[in-house]
Amino acid sequence: MTSYIVTCPACGTGNRIPADREGIQGQCGSCHAALPPLYHHPQPMDSGSFDGFVAAYPGPVLAEFWAPW
Ligand SMILES: [Zn+2]
Repeated sequence: MTSYIVTCPACGTGNRIPADREGIQGQCGSCHAALPPLYHHPQPMDSGSFDGFVAAYPGPVLAEFWAPW
């Protein structure tokens, strides 16, 4: 199964997270701090959901913006 490494923001340990745990908050296996939820697919957002997501997410967020003509 595909998995991804999520770095613990508290202690820097890499935690292997299975791909099917997307969007679920995990816990560091070393120090038990909360890990940022793993997202490995783009998450469609709009003006009503973007601000809350970015403000609540504890890690860096990569955003792509587009607008219709
Ligand atoms: Zn940790």
